[in-house]
Amino acid sequence: MSNRTLQVTDEVYDYLLDVSLREPEILKELREVTAEHPNARMQISPEQGQFMSLLVRLMGARRCLEIGVFTGYSSLAVAAALPDNGLILACDVNEEYTSIARAFWERAGVAGKIDLRLGPALDTLDDLLDDGQADAFDFAFIDADKSSYPGYFDRCLRLLRPGGLIAVDNTLWSGRLVDEREQDADSCALRDFNRAVHADERIDLSLVPIGDGLTLARKRP
Ligand code: SAM
Ligand code: CA
Repeated sequence: MSNRTLQVTDEVYDYLLDVSLREPEILKELREVTAEHPNARMQISPEQGQFMSLLVRLMGARRCLEIGVFTGYSSLAVAAALPDNGLILACDVNEEYTSIARAFWERAGVAGKIDLRLGPALDTLDDLLDDGQADAFDFAFIDADKSSYPGYFDRCLRLLRPGGLIAVDNTLWSGRLVDEREQDADSCALRDFNRAVHADERIDLSLVPIGDGLTLARKRP
């Protein structure tokens, strides 16, 4: 028993998956295909995908944003949890990665729920705001270039309805943020981002130690 978050050993992690993971076959296959990719480590973990699908179900989310698609694991996990009239507006810059995503969305029967926008996500989000889409989304998942996290967060917050939720990935960054010798651009950006979010009175906050750290921020009404 413990009154602080458990350190998850390999054995405990295997147990957690064994007694809780319910990964659909198509997501398992996407994970296996992505494992062969040189950037396979960019994909979220299966238990995180399941957690995010639970969150969107819990919220009754219908309109979602995704910043950073890669081969489509997180978008597929979330899309499968949305109602038939649900939508993910998914942003990425990479045609090669997202061609894998598209093929899996088709096979999973969720392609009609995902609107892929290829181009810098800051521009796509600005276009949505210019188009009068403020307060029009329920859920956003931020998982692209770390230096732009403040810009993504600010825009997503405006695009979400009051009570909507932003999930931000990699906010524990393999534990490197506690070591001040780690002064690379991504580590510095994530440290600054975490401090800013902690002080942000516009949101309710929790940093969940699942995957590489997932910050949940609910837009206060
Ligand atoms: N969520 C994905 C998953 O579950 O597999 C992983 C996303 S991966 C960590 C980050 C993605 O962000 C890459 O596919 C990359 O092409 C994309 N990206 C990088 N810079 C971007 C930008 N400025 N705008 C949009 N997407 C960007
Ligand atoms: Ca990530």
